[in-house]
Amino acid sequence: MKVKAPRGTNDILPQDTAKWQYLENVAKNVFKRYNYKEIRTPIFEETGLFQRGIGEGTDIVEKEMYTFEDKGGRSITLRPEGTASVVRSFLENKIYGKAQPNKYFYLGQMFRYERPQSGRYRQFHQLGVEVLGGDSPAIDAEVILLGLEILRELGLEGLEVHLNSVGCPKCRESYKEKLIEYFKPYLEELCSDCQSRYERSPLRILDCKVDKDKNFLAEAPKIHEEICDECGDHFSEVKTFLDLLDIDYILNPKLVRGLDYYTRTAFEIIYKGLGAQDTIFGGGRYDGLAQEIGRRDVPGIGFAMGMERILLTLEEQGIELPIDESIDLFVITIGEEAQRSAFSYLHKLRRAGLKVEMDYLGRSVKGQMKAADRNNASYSIILGEDELQKGVATIRDMKIGDQVEVELKKLVEEMTDRIEN
Ligand SMILES: [Zn+2]
Ligand SMILES: [Zn+2]
Repeated sequence: MKVKAPRGTNDILPQDTAKWQYLENVAKNVFKRYNYKEIRTPIFEETGLFQRGIGEGTDIVEKEMYTFEDKGGRSITLRPEGTASVVRSFLENKIYGKAQPNKYFYLGQMFRYERPQSGRYRQFHQLGVEVLGGDSPAIDAEVILLGLEILRELGLEGLEVHLNSVGCPKCRESYKEKLIEYFKPYLEELCSDCQSRYERSPLRILDCKVDKDKNFLAEAPKIHEEICDECGDHFSEVKTFLDLLDIDYILNPKLVRGLDYYTRTAFEIIYKGLGAQDTIFGGGRYDGLAQEIGRRDVPGIGFAMGMERILLTLEEQGIELPIDESIDLFVITIGEEAQRSAFSYLHKLRRAGLKVEMDYLGRSVKGQMKAADRNNASYSIILGEDELQKGVATIRDMKIGDQVEVELKKLVEEMTDRIEN
């Protein structure tokens, strides 16, 4: 039997995990400065949570969930996204009774049964934020800025911020009617999916991937021009805050989220160089979601960022992350006695905080030299019988090649000094 990783998954090997850790650290530092706290929710949940929290009739719920029955007969689903779990946790732990707003971030694996392609996997990674318990437009602007800040610190350029307001359930009703009226003469020209959902959710015609280039779509009534006064005020405040932060944005009326619990601000951050899968992060306000999941009024907003997409964009833009995988010292030994003695020094040097390695396979001195090079060691320490007898070690600077002898009892101190300078 040949064992392979399941289709749509991949191993992240040590030469790549350094990049992932770098990206995670950049994000965590930004989260810290913005005072977002990490939340860790289960990787699987009861299926019902996602049916309510993502919405029946969406592609995710209808086609893409990893759903199975556990041994106790419960329907379980591997999380396809992060928001529903965070809102569930907020409600279950009664955080709504405490000071608001609560600002969370998460990162981890998500699972969707999709056709694997460049930048899209069945197990993929997202980092995201959710702010619960506040509906100020300043929060909307902060959430967008925070995401952009992570990408800026990684060195990414050429990003487009697409922005829209999808109003509230109240003002969306009359907009829906307008859309139904508008699309009536074009019904025949719509794709079959859109024809069947035309009455129920006409908004989803606007972001249909099949119909997106049809001429009549460009002329459709625009939701941000139809929203109620409260929603309009909120939207113009969000724009004012973004202007204040010098964030350019493109008003994109096609940016709609078809479900009723999505409200007001919707945004997507796009890098055109990525081709068909060009959204690096997207999100929006969901003031009706907590009502859907737990019958409670809690306003919320968040985004999710695809980590694979970020790494792909870094590659696309030719950005090398400043990753240093070199070690400080490589200990080279000659003879068995020296090897034993070196093993104890290895431990002392490591305990002193240095990155140290040695040979475990009995290689020749030449082989050990090569290993020191392969590990990008700044120094090598050579320890043989002669040195042991004299109570010294030979230190070789691997970059300039000169060698000095150091007393063994001062070795740790000497090496710590050299590395720190
Ligand atoms: Zn409204
Ligand atoms: Zn369509």
